Amino acid sequence: MATLNRSNSESLFKTAKTYFPGGVNSPVRAFKSVEGAPIFMKKGDGCHIWDEDDNKFIDFCCSWGPLILGHNNQNVYNGIVGALQNGASFGTPTVLENQLGELILSRNPFIDKIRFVSSGTEAVMSALRMARGFTGRKKVLKFEGCYHGHVDSMLVKAGSGLVTFGESSSAGVPEEYANETLVLPLNDISALKECFEQYKNEIACAIIEPIPANNGLLLQDKSFLKALREICTEYGALLFFDEVISGFRVGFNGASELYGITPDIITYGKIIGGGLPVGAYGAKAEIMKMVSPDGPVYQAGTLSGNPVAMAAGIAQLTECAKEGFYEDQESRTKFFVEKINTYAKTKRYNFELVTIGSIFWISFDGKKSIQKADQINADMSQFSALFSALLDRGVYLGPSGYEVGFVSQAHTIEHLTTAADAFCESLDLVMG
Ligand SMILES: *Cc1c(COP(=O)(O)O)cnc(C)c1O
Repeated sequence: MATLNRSNSESLFKTAKTYFPGGVNSPVRAFKSVEGAPIFMKKGDGCHIWDEDDNKFIDFCCSWGPLILGHNNQNVYNGIVGALQNGASFGTPTVLENQLGELILSRNPFIDKIRFVSSGTEAVMSALRMARGFTGRKKVLKFEGCYHGHVDSMLVKAGSGLVTFGESSSAGVPEEYANETLVLPLNDISALKECFEQYKNEIACAIIEPIPANNGLLLQDKSFLKALREICTEYGALLFFDEVISGFRVGFNGASELYGITPDIITYGKIIGGGLPVGAYGAKAEIMKMVSPDGPVYQAGTLSGNPVAMAAGIAQLTECAKEGFYEDQESRTKFFVEKINTYAKTKRYNFELVTIGSIFWISFDGKKSIQKADQINADMSQFSALFSALLDRGVYLGPSGYEVGFVSQAHTIEHLTTAADAFCESLDLVMG
């Protein structure tokens, strides 16, 4: 069905398979749930990317979220090159860490201190340790359908029953680790109450993506997030918002600000590093005081606060902090989403794009109101067909129907019109 020329990508993938498990260095890149070889990219500029066969695409993957200014943004580029000219790494403090810290903390009412690390996974792992160290409790509550990186204790799924111990969802995670994680369905206040009544003062923290966006886009009721805040306070557990996607995406201060809910711990990643590897965790001073060298919770990193990565983050977040940045992101995204949804409705396709801020997700059941992981239609064959049709028309999405799409500052109304037309044409092909 696909007509795209991928001969160079195919041959590169063949070689890559001899070097890396599955030919990739992160599994979702392997195109397991769509057709054909993964497409090897060689260049990006603005909202466009070019592959090794010289095909050009409008990119809605945006490196899975980090590139909110698009590819090769001039300010980010200048920041990176400027820092690099002074050396790639020192393993000492640099002024750039202060600058990124100030940029974030001077605007953020939720956290007093921050620690920079090198990925979202590392941020979550370190912050969970801090939560356990601070409370002296062992158990962590997570929600089915939320992703928090590949931390051992987070690679769990719900067992049977409403309030359950986690079951390991990856080989190599001991059952004993998984048993310290409780797993609940999203958006379910009564399950929440039951869980806290049962485990009372054993729960160190409840971790959630306040805007779950790693397994479809499962927008939660604000009343649920508020109930979670209240019940954590009642039982002395910490509320942990994993804002690795939502932070600096739905607003400078993420979902915490959008919903007006104050968590105890926040993690950031993706956008914070301007396309370079940065993660971070933050909390009020009394909690952060637990972290080494101030306190007994150990955490360190050879390349933490790396100057080149800090410079990229500073350049990117400086743009994000400008007046009207997020309103503009949202209004262009709305334009794109509404254009496609209006078309799908006219054609009576059982399809809808769900959106918040500059994130969108394709729901093939047209079920805009999905809030739980088990409500997603597991049949992704229509996504796969749409993905191929879009590639043929010069539009690149993340290669899985469970992943969301991202609109960047570089996606102008003109680009979005072109992409929306390609979407509508592809829908006719897949659903017409
Ligand atoms: C991407 C993501 C992570 C993991 O971040 P990595 O940088 O890939 O390790 C953790 N939590 C959430 C919510 C994420 O979206």
